[in-house]
Amino acid sequence: PLVLGIETSCDETGIGIVRGRTLLSNTIASSMDEHARYGGVVPEVAARAHLEALQPSIEAALAESGVTLADLDAVAVTSGPGLAGALMVGVGAAKALSVSLEKPLYAVNHLVGHIAADILDADAPPLEYPTVALLVSGGHTSLLLVRDLTTDVELLGETMDDAAGEAFDKVARLLGLPYPGGPEIDRAAASGDPKAIAFPRGLSRASDMAKHRYDFSFSGLKTAVARWVEQREAQGETVPVADVAASFREAVVDVLVTKALAACRDHGVPRLLLGGGVIANRRLRDVAIERAAAEGVTVRIPPLSLCTDNGAMIAALTSELIMSGRAPSTLEFGADSTLPVTEIQVAESA
Ligand code: ATP
Ligand code: MG
Ligand code: FE
Repeated sequence: PLVLGIETSCDETGIGIVRGRTLLSNTIASSMDEHARYGGVVPEVAARAHLEALQPSIEAALAESGVTLADLDAVAVTSGPGLAGALMVGVGAAKALSVSLEKPLYAVNHLVGHIAADILDADAPPLEYPTVALLVSGGHTSLLLVRDLTTDVELLGETMDDAAGEAFDKVARLLGLPYPGGPEIDRAAASGDPKAIAFPRGLSRASDMAKHRYDFSFSGLKTAVARWVEQREAQGETVPVADVAASFREAVVDVLVTKALAACRDHGVPRLLLGGGVIANRRLRDVAIERAAAEGVTVRIPPLSLCTDNGAMIAALTSELIMSGRAPSTLEFGADSTLPVTEIQVAESA
């Protein structure tokens, strides 16, 4: 099926067009720059930016794929989770398109979309089930067990406070580095010693692992970095930014990889899929691949343009739903900022 996907859950206006499992176009407009001076995504600003970017993005995606709206078999949209106001812009646009074109509409889950991105990777062999998936971005840190992309995705654990990307952004800020913090910390860490400072690994003590084996916490780490930096400054010493950045990054990477591999081991699943914008972190990819190999686990990482938020992954998930015979959604759905990952499609018609 030929599907156009609309993604507006955060700061990317993503329009993607796929035919079956083939990517035809993936247009991404980001309002990131407009959020820079606030140090994080401002929901109202993101929603307005989506409103402005949607129409030109749809036109660009159609032009790039060489298809017309009339050619489409379905329209797909992210219903949640994400920023409510931002989601509403995409949902409204998708409903309008679906009704005016008389094309079926599929309302789907953003997190499951991140997993579906893998399907569009033409260079990779088909995704095997079950697989453990680690999704890390500015808004999410989730560990999932995927038994089937279209019917069975289980949440194993998630962050109890800040998302991993958010932690990078906050720590960058307190080190005086600009937003978004991930790439900046990466750059600063390159010349630093990851073992210089022993920052805490959240929810990793034996007592925590009993109750929160697959959950994450990064706010304690952020506070630990802040304390450490404050103490140095109070003593009139210069802050070794490279060492702090490298040690902080190592703490985040260590916890993410340790818990993802624990999930693989516990469930007897030798496959780990990585997704989300934080996958841009080279250290995270390297440590994951190295430690997974030592445990006989294969790591899959879609191309980065499909890891950050995009519409192609939403179209890809919908294409899979259609190929597995699922009915379209009714118009009885809205924006659900806390949509659980188990709800792969919402408002499926009877
Ligand atoms: P969502 O949470 O809905 O997926 P988002 O827009 O917050 O959306 P992405 O756009 O996927 O997330 O990713 C952005 C986040 O990734 C930011 O927090 C950014 O700091 C982080 N990031 C980007 N590059 C790197 C990197 N090299 N290392 C660590 N973090 C990074
Ligand atoms: Mg983003
Ligand atoms: Fe996302």
